Amino acid sequence: MYDIIVAGGGPAGLTAAMYAARSGKDVLVLESRSVGGQICDSPQVSGCPGLPDVTGVQFAGTLARQAQEQGVHIRKETITFLRTQNGLLELTTDRGRYSAVSLILANGVTHRKLGLDGEDRLIGSGVSYCALCDGASVQNRPVAVVGGGDTALQEALFLAERCSKVTLIHRRDLFRGDSRFAAQLRRQENVEILLSHQVDALRSDADRLTGLLLTDLKTGQQRELAVDGLFIAVGQEPCNQLFSTLVMTDERGYFLAGEDCATSLPGVFAAGDCRAKTVRRLITAVSDGAVAGLAASRYVDSRRDGT
Ligand SMILES: Cc1cc2nc3c(=O)[nH]c(=O)nc-3n(C[C@H](O)[C@H](O)[C@H](O)COP(=O)(O)OP(=O)(O)OC[C@H]3O[C@@H](n4cnc5c(N)ncnc54)[C@H](O)[C@@H]3O)c2cc1C
Repeated sequence: MYDIIVAGGGPAGLTAAMYAARSGKDVLVLESRSVGGQICDSPQVSGCPGLPDVTGVQFAGTLARQAQEQGVHIRKETITFLRTQNGLLELTTDRGRYSAVSLILANGVTHRKLGLDGEDRLIGSGVSYCALCDGASVQNRPVAVVGGGDTALQEALFLAERCSKVTLIHRRDLFRGDSRFAAQLRRQENVEILLSHQVDALRSDADRLTGLLLTDLKTGQQRELAVDGLFIAVGQEPCNQLFSTLVMTDERGYFLAGEDCATSLPGVFAAGDCRAKTVRRLITAVSDGAVAGLAASRYVDSRRDGT
């Protein structure tokens, strides 16, 4: 039995836990993989004020230590079920059962993957899901971007300013993204656009991406493309299904939460990339975490006071 359980040990969850523990609450973080969340995939954290030259792993390690120093308990367990029971929230994991007065959902999102062999192994070694974060590591080198929406087009434009060549690969024969971005890309001399193409395989040496095997979907013809970076921008998806029978989500599956991170279920708060919002970055995740941690603490206090 805990005052507050946090689902997910990424930046939002760890920050929420730290703030709640600082308010004197007994807090447990349940994290299914390694503590730190997506930011661990970033070789250099960008866009975080006051935090230059730090890797994602360093950032996550420091944050986890800070939370533990405040007395936060962290366990490597996957939450598999949530129910309300006698006015408490009861969580089942792959290892046990816990109950809490309040729950903070900070279970993040997953980037939609291409599902290719080696894709996971090469993250941070040529494969990336964030040009803004990882573009610096492929400066003046040839790269490819996969996708046809706004994110893919913007990532290609961003990379065209920094890389020797950008090949933009899209399965369909029309982009879904803004036509102005597409027009801008067509004017760039170092951008090649391959519509109706898909990536069929990743080529690599021992530990780095070296190229791609592409298929022209109209002719069936295959070709090799030498690149040092592949930026996959085929969308993100929430992993909220587990909780969505009890907590309201938007039509895309993101938790609906107010300014105080409160969801539709009393005592349950949502923080970070898992909630409906427009900017999903480290800074917004930790910001939500602080708000949710304090709001959950106030909720626990109000239950104790009977208010
Ligand atoms: C490669 C990469 C580089 C990036 N670089 C930057 C950058 O430089 N600057 C920046 O501002 N942003 C960057 N981002 C974005 C940033 O990492 C995210 O916005 C941020 O991590 C979101 O934090 P979060 O805690 O909401 O979610 P996440 O980081 O996704 O953490 C959620 C955690 O919940 C856990 N979880 C999920 N389901 C369960 C469950 N059922 N039980 C237990 N645990 C569960 C997951 O394992 C995960 O660890 C990058 C993202 C990626 C992928």
